[in-house]
Amino acid sequence: MIKRPRTTSIHRHLAGVGAFITGVVGGLFLLVLVGVTLETSRSQVLERSTALGSVLASNLTASIVFQDPATAAELLNGLRTVEDVIQAQLTLPGGDAFVTYRRSLIDDSSESFDVYSESLTVPVLLDEEQIASLELRVDLWPVYQQLAWISGVALVLWLLGMVAAYVLSQVFNARITEPLSDLADMMSEVTDREDYSQRFRYAVQNELGSVVDAFNEMLERIGDREQRLRKMIVELEEARDQAESAARSKSSFLANMSHEIRTPMNGVMGMIALLKQGELTEQQRAYFETIERSADALLLIIDDILDFTKIEAGRLELGKSAFRLRDSLSSIEALFSEPASQKGLTLTFAVDKAIPEFIVGDAGRIRQILLNLIGNAVKFTDAGDIRVQAGISEGGDGPQVRFTVTDTGPGIHPDDQTRIFGEFYQADVSLTRAHGGTGLGLAITEQLVQLMGGRIGFDSSWGKGSSFWVELPMPTPGEVTTSEAPQSEQMGASRGNESARLQRLTNPSASASAPTAGATEYPLPVSYDLQVLVAEDSEVNQFIIRELLAKWGIEIEVTADGLEAVNAFREREFDLILMDIQMPEMDGLEATRQICRLQRDEGLHPHCEIVGLSAHAMSGDRERYLAEGMVDYLTKPIRTEALRGVLDACLDQKKTRL
Ligand code: ADP
Repeated sequence: MIKRPRTTSIHRHLAGVGAFITGVVGGLFLLVLVGVTLETSRSQVLERSTALGSVLASNLTASIVFQDPATAAELLNGLRTVEDVIQAQLTLPGGDAFVTYRRSLIDDSSESFDVYSESLTVPVLLDEEQIASLELRVDLWPVYQQLAWISGVALVLWLLGMVAAYVLSQVFNARITEPLSDLADMMSEVTDREDYSQRFRYAVQNELGSVVDAFNEMLERIGDREQRLRKMIVELEEARDQAESAARSKSSFLANMSHEIRTPMNGVMGMIALLKQGELTEQQRAYFETIERSADALLLIIDDILDFTKIEAGRLELGKSAFRLRDSLSSIEALFSEPASQKGLTLTFAVDKAIPEFIVGDAGRIRQILLNLIGNAVKFTDAGDIRVQAGISEGGDGPQVRFTVTDTGPGIHPDDQTRIFGEFYQADVSLTRAHGGTGLGLAITEQLVQLMGGRIGFDSSWGKGSSFWVELPMPTPGEVTTSEAPQSEQMGASRGNESARLQRLTNPSASASAPTAGATEYPLPVSYDLQVLVAEDSEVNQFIIRELLAKWGIEIEVTADGLEAVNAFREREFDLILMDIQMPEMDGLEATRQICRLQRDEGLHPHCEIVGLSAHAMSGDRERYLAEGMVDYLTKPIRTEALRGVLDACLDQKKTRL
């Protein structure tokens, strides 16, 4: 309710109206009274003078007849005692004045003589024939004097009447308006306190009574509605809490399940890798490669679900370091050129010159966004070309880097356009069955873009192609307040199953079909002269690593937790420690910290390098591991090639030292 300041009260207003009406009516009445009084007094004076004039005229007849002006003058002089007549003149028919009488007091030049007097003429008759005329000037001044006095009294009465009307109206109106102002006060109190249980009491049955009844009725209804609303809000809050808790359990169930599935899958992958290194027939190798690709595909899905649940639970932290965007784009171009050309697609990258050398952000996650978009374009396009553009656009919050991925694929049907960013949503089931995928790629991409404070969108025409775009804020190292110097963080850092992901782009049904020939085989060196400590709690993983390394002639020492690893490090010199991150007793990060402290403070085995083993490394984790003192990390399931890369690097280091 809008509250207005009360400038005038109704009863004062009504009193004003009453006084005005009284004034108008009373004023008119008094005007009429004054008019009537004036007219009555005037006619009385004139009638009196006419009667006098008639008597005088009959007495003057003889003076005219006998031409006796002296007698006539004497007769007219008799008017001296009559106050009403101030002048009299006897005029003969020819127009000559016979006799004139004038009261001596009268000044001819006086204006009031004309204004406040009136003439009347009486004929002088002889046998009904006019022989002269008597003109009398009658004085009306006393009449006007009396009138002025009466008017003065009337004016005073009129004013008194108005004041009395005003005061009395105020008194009587207050009785009517008081309940009204009470009602207004109560209304604002109800509004302020939002207490709809109050009721207004007014016993008289009149219009105000009806207003009060309606008001009370309204309060009752609002109160009812308020109660229902509160009940509804409580129910809705409960439902929301339940839904949130269900969503949380869903997310945590998905996350736990994915994690639990991932662990035995690591075992499966490791065992396959071991088996593949043995003596196998062509057919057996084909079987194992099929199993390996199926396992890869499964891990891919699990990784997506883990990413998604982590973002949904708000547990994803974005890294922030300076990196060369151009280099990253070149690495992505190199990555996709093979799958694109295998499908007969032309892949072009156009990078605007204006893009600065270094930009600050989470290189790994930006890479993931681009891999998803370009990956989809390559996946769904069967012919034509794919254009990737990187440029600068001016957004509301300063310059943004804008990536556009345009393809000549099937496009997205208008009905699906609002839904493709939804989780597990796949537009064309027949297409996606052929191409694979989880329907999580765009959902994850959108969430990552939003986490980075950017925007994502697309234009698509059904049957012609799609163009997905992403705009991300583009801070350059100078603008970021951290003291970090630009370190060349490469988006090239490989994420989990990237190679498996890429392979599916060109060979989507690989997980279910026969393998392609010519899988990469490494010629095994005779032996690596390396002392390796493995800290890993899972017996399956211990077994796999032991077997893999044994093939290369490496004897290892195995510990099951971080504490044992630190103790083993104290006792013997190792060239390399493969350190699992999650372990009971003491985790891999704490153990790494302690070992690095021993190396730094006590100079113990300073050349020993630590490489992390992580089940599912998120991109932010990499920086954390390196900051703790690890030189690299491997994602599980451990791939033969990656492990060999680590061993080779370690061996090189050792050789340069010797
Ligand atoms: P996935 O690719 O795993 O199926 P996404 O979330 O990446 O899941 O994509 C969701 C759906 O959006 C896809 O299944 C596909 O139907 C549609 N889509 C995405 N990108 C394209 C594209 N470039 N061309 C046509 N359809 C696309």
